[in-house]
Amino acid sequence: MPQLPGSGSPLLSTSQLETLAGLGEERTAAVGDVLYRVGDASYPFIAVVEGEVAIVDAGGNELVRHGPSKFLGELNLLSGQTVFVTAVVTEPLRYIAVEREALRSLLFEDGPLSDLLLSTFIARREALQTVSGLGIEIVGPHSSEATVRMVEFARSNRLPYTWDETSPAGSAEAPIVRLPGGVELHAPSTGQVLRALGVGLELAPREEVDLLVVGAGPAGLAAAVYGASEGLNTLVVESTALGGQAGSSRRIENYLGFPAGISGSELTSRAVVQARKFGARTATPYRALSLEPGNGRHVVRLEDDHEVAARAVLLATGAQYRRLPVEGLEGYEGTTVFYAAGPPEAQLCGASRVAVVGGGNSAGQAAVWLARGGALVTLLHRRADLRETMSDYLIRELDRYGVAVRDRSEIAALHGRDGHLEAVTLKSGERLTFGFLFLFLGAVPCTHWLDEVARDDDGFILTGPGANAQYLLETDVTGVFAAGDVRSGSTKRCATAVGEGSMAVQLVHAHLGRTAAAARR
Ligand SMILES: Cc1cc2nc3c(=O)[nH]c(=O)nc-3n(C[C@H](O)[C@H](O)[C@H](O)COP(=O)(O)OP(=O)(O)OC[C@H]3O[C@@H](n4cnc5c(N)ncnc54)[C@H](O)[C@@H]3O)c2cc1C
Repeated sequence: MPQLPGSGSPLLSTSQLETLAGLGEERTAAVGDVLYRVGDASYPFIAVVEGEVAIVDAGGNELVRHGPSKFLGELNLLSGQTVFVTAVVTEPLRYIAVEREALRSLLFEDGPLSDLLLSTFIARREALQTVSGLGIEIVGPHSSEATVRMVEFARSNRLPYTWDETSPAGSAEAPIVRLPGGVELHAPSTGQVLRALGVGLELAPREEVDLLVVGAGPAGLAAAVYGASEGLNTLVVESTALGGQAGSSRRIENYLGFPAGISGSELTSRAVVQARKFGARTATPYRALSLEPGNGRHVVRLEDDHEVAARAVLLATGAQYRRLPVEGLEGYEGTTVFYAAGPPEAQLCGASRVAVVGGGNSAGQAAVWLARGGALVTLLHRRADLRETMSDYLIRELDRYGVAVRDRSEIAALHGRDGHLEAVTLKSGERLTFGFLFLFLGAVPCTHWLDEVARDDDGFILTGPGANAQYLLETDVTGVFAAGDVRSGSTKRCATAVGEGSMAVQLVHAHLGRTAAAARR
């Protein structure tokens, strides 16, 4: 029987089955019954008591089977996304069905069960991303900017997808997006796709909140947890995918409390669940376009004619990957040039020659991950010695997994056609054959929309004394704060971002107290 690699099928203990039985309903099903199918809007959590269920894709190919004490479901049970697979009974079944909302509240209360389900759901989503033909289908050529944007969006939201690089028939505008279940969207916005998949909060044209957090990376999510848990009406808007840069990290090794490391998607998925538990609202994809400082309320305008009036605003928009200054780069982005290395990329690059460009830890992590996936990896960096920029433990890992390291190597030109890279030329004139390139060249702050706020020469937001502000994380606009990578002088680390996001909430309270006192005078 084919197995979905890495799909993870742990067993529930007897007491966990009892807990679930107390919360859900025991049901039976006959061989051939379908418990849920591709395209369904939702499904309950299912724990198998007796019998067996097969999980199959839209084409009927079997991915995995679950027997007694195992459970069905993946990340969409929490996110509410459309169902990507079908569950068919293969042996007479007795099972416990727990509705999604009831499961969510149980996850907030039962730590060990929450750990087991969350890590399994995340592992299963990662495994589904490697199965071709699953999830959404994006049709459009590589030359279509909107198509490449849609592919990038699916990738960063960890949606299983396939990309058919042909032009849509007739005069249809690219891309066409086919959803599980057959619905077809023509040149949709990313928001339309996400909402058609059943995910994502639809904002009212004007929202009024106590705290608006812009950006849902570690800093924004930490602020959401603390803001909402401390009684602030908190809204988080995110332009791309909940989790930020950290969500794309294969393994965060240095985050306190996780001695074995934790994957970025697991850390940030847990944070999203936690923020929602306290009542914070997260809305994606909504890009902030401008900030209008006001007296009492600041107004942030979002894409698609939405606006949010907030008593305090936290800017946590992080930074974006720096691109390589070479001609024709955009022609390869998304097909053979990437800015993150996840399961789909590892699958794509197996047994290929791959270059990872950059000397920092994120480049090192990506090189190790791709080499472990079977790629022939060369790390190119421009300094004389990698030890100047990369942690020792990672340099040892590069060696262990056979990654070739080339010092003083900068790319001058790319060669290939139709989005498929074939080789690069270094500034030294040497030509090297690579089918894929992964760029980890540092980042520029996402602050181009923030003319109203003082920034340093590199565009990072000034706070505290640097902005003549009263509070440490406050900008030069009273009641507007900044936290995480976007802040001038911040340490570009997950833990710091989380710390700053949490601390910002205390300063928001101080600000609200200050304005209330001023109003009384
Ligand atoms: C591959 C990789 C590996 C890493 N590994 C580690 C590690 O091992 N350990 C470690 O400590 N750190 C690591 N980091 C760094 C760490 O991820 C960052 O320091 C951290 O994510 C910063 O958090 P943040 O919330 O400030 O910003 P981000 O995580 O960058 O999040 C900002 C969010 O704001 C959104 N946004 C931007 N502009 C707008 C807008 N106009 N409107 C709405 N939303 C917007 C973005 O889409 C993004 O989701 C790694 C980073 C990468 C890329």
